[in-house]
Amino acid sequence: MQNKIYDTLIIGAGIVGCSVARYLSKYKGDIAVLERYEDVCCGTSKANSGIVHAGFDAKHGTLMAKYNVEGSRMYPKLAQELDIKYRNNGSIVLCLSEEDRPKLISLYENGISNDVEGLRIITRDELLTLEPKVSDEAVCALYAPTGGIVCPFDATFAMAENAAHNGAEFYFDTNVTAIVREEALWKIMTSNGTYLTRTVVNAAGCYSDVFHNMVSSKMIRITPRRGEYFLLDRTAGDHVSHTVFRLPGKMGKGVLITPTAHGNILVGPTAEDIEDKDDVSTTAEGLDKIRHQSSLSIKDLPLNKTITSFAGLRSHEDGHEFIIGEAEDAEGFFDCAGIESPGLSAAPAIGADVAEMIAYKLDLQEKEDFDPYRTGITDPFALSEDSLNELIRVRPDYGRIVCRCESITEGQIRDAIRCVPGARSLDGVKRRIRAGMGRCQGGFCSPAVMEIIADELQMDISDVTKKGKGSRIIVGENKAL
Ligand SMILES: Cc1cc2nc3c(=O)[nH]c(=O)nc-3n(C[C@H](O)[C@H](O)[C@H](O)COP(=O)(O)OP(=O)(O)OC[C@H]3O[C@@H](n4cnc5c(N)ncnc54)[C@H](O)[C@@H]3O)c2cc1C
Repeated sequence: MQNKIYDTLIIGAGIVGCSVARYLSKYKGDIAVLERYEDVCCGTSKANSGIVHAGFDAKHGTLMAKYNVEGSRMYPKLAQELDIKYRNNGSIVLCLSEEDRPKLISLYENGISNDVEGLRIITRDELLTLEPKVSDEAVCALYAPTGGIVCPFDATFAMAENAAHNGAEFYFDTNVTAIVREEALWKIMTSNGTYLTRTVVNAAGCYSDVFHNMVSSKMIRITPRRGEYFLLDRTAGDHVSHTVFRLPGKMGKGVLITPTAHGNILVGPTAEDIEDKDDVSTTAEGLDKIRHQSSLSIKDLPLNKTITSFAGLRSHEDGHEFIIGEAEDAEGFFDCAGIESPGLSAAPAIGADVAEMIAYKLDLQEKEDFDPYRTGITDPFALSEDSLNELIRVRPDYGRIVCRCESITEGQIRDAIRCVPGARSLDGVKRRIRAGMGRCQGGFCSPAVMEIIADELQMDISDVTKKGKGSRIIVGENKAL
């Protein structure tokens, strides 16, 4: 058992846990994040649409609506402070028949009630000027100029790095197994020892009901709602420029088509309630559904340019609402539960609010030296020729390309491992700087990336993993067999 008593322990290093950590690191206090996987951003935060929703969809009066709109307003400044890849590309909801027009109007009215700026219903003619490839069936659309796109990995890593820079600790491979109250403290049992803390933040994604129900008699239930996707190559990247939705249905926002912050096109997601909180497999039926549904919105979508498919799990709470704040019957236990979509958009606002609640509860004082800034890893191709030459003179590894599809250099890979918290696996490198994220999906660069990881972390190459424990890549020697 650790002797240290923390002010706050946060369970889960997704976008929500890292956002709470970042905003709480503004205050004097000891905080740490406990994560069962080997890195930040291994849960739902790594597998979503990457959209900063404008906030017209979440039902007026709900926490979802409040935090969505606030979070969406925070992103532009946050992106500057933390050097996050974010673009305000605007979003469009298509209305594919006159019969559906009243539904579009009520969506517009809900957005106006939520205080979303600039919302307009646009005619088919205006729609075609914004998105020339929309379906011939589209009669009009809702246009939300404040909608945006963000790299969800970048946003999560940036929050984590900035929190760490301001004193937050991170414990990986630390699976929380039980939480018990001991006098004025919480005792957290994990696969990596026992921790003591004054307050707990439950940001465990699909598992947030498990932890809430351990300490509260007011039970909640989270159902994993799986969403599958196709990711298209960057050569298809200009097929749409806005995020294009259909009218939302009972199971959510439906299949959408959007550019990503890195210039790919993302098509999906499906929505299917499942039992297994970790089942992120894709299915033939799900992918067929996406093929069919996307063709109803956008013409000639080049799905033959798919480079990968994947799935993520929404933390769907029975009441379809975020559960945020101190549990009524568990003093010092703060929930961030049921954070399904628009959780990525809402995360900055949730983080700021929960940090404030905890600071008030513990009477934490603000630090004089909090540093809100974080600089991401240098993109050599964003530099002028002179600056690039100077960089390569000082860091020759920035002159050696390792990932050809995404033009990623050895220097960037080394910096992805050296940052704090840094990459420890192939996926950790991939999510931080995109080596292995392109057309060949790591087929070419993986061995070279593994060598760099082994060199940086002073480990045997056979111990390098794809994504932490249980995912070793080298299992033996061909010739020895
Ligand atoms: C298909 C899909 C599309 C989406 N699209 C969007 C979108 O476009 N825009 C938007 O705003 N939102 C979107 N969302 C929602 C958004 O992705 C989530 O709301 C957000 O990522 C939730 O973040 P989180 O930190 O709560 O959860 P997670 O990222 O899942 O983090 C929870 C963390 O807790 C850890 N954990 C769990 N159990 C334990 C344990 N026992 N011990 C230690 N750690 C533990 C997990 O390993 C995980 O890392 C989408 C979601 C899905 C599934």
